[in-house]
Amino acid sequence: MGKVIFWLVIVFAVLFCLRMYNVAQQKRRERRDAPPPSGTGEAMVRCTHCGIFLPRSEAQLIEGKIRCRDKECT
Ligand SMILES: [Zn+2]
Repeated sequence: MGKVIFWLVIVFAVLFCLRMYNVAQQKRRERRDAPPPSGTGEAMVRCTHCGIFLPRSEAQLIEGKIRCRDKECT
């Protein structure tokens, strides 16, 4: 009986180590794939109709007002 418990503890310890390793790998991947901090990004503008914020390139100017591409706003 003692042997079974011993092996169970070993198995769980190994699984725990693998889990920790995977979490560390995942965190490293997320950090690498994360976009650069703001400052290099595109300027955001606000739709004058619905108030949503969107990148400058996705906005459109209608009658001198910034609008998003939503159906109700164009
Ligand atoms: Zn809008």
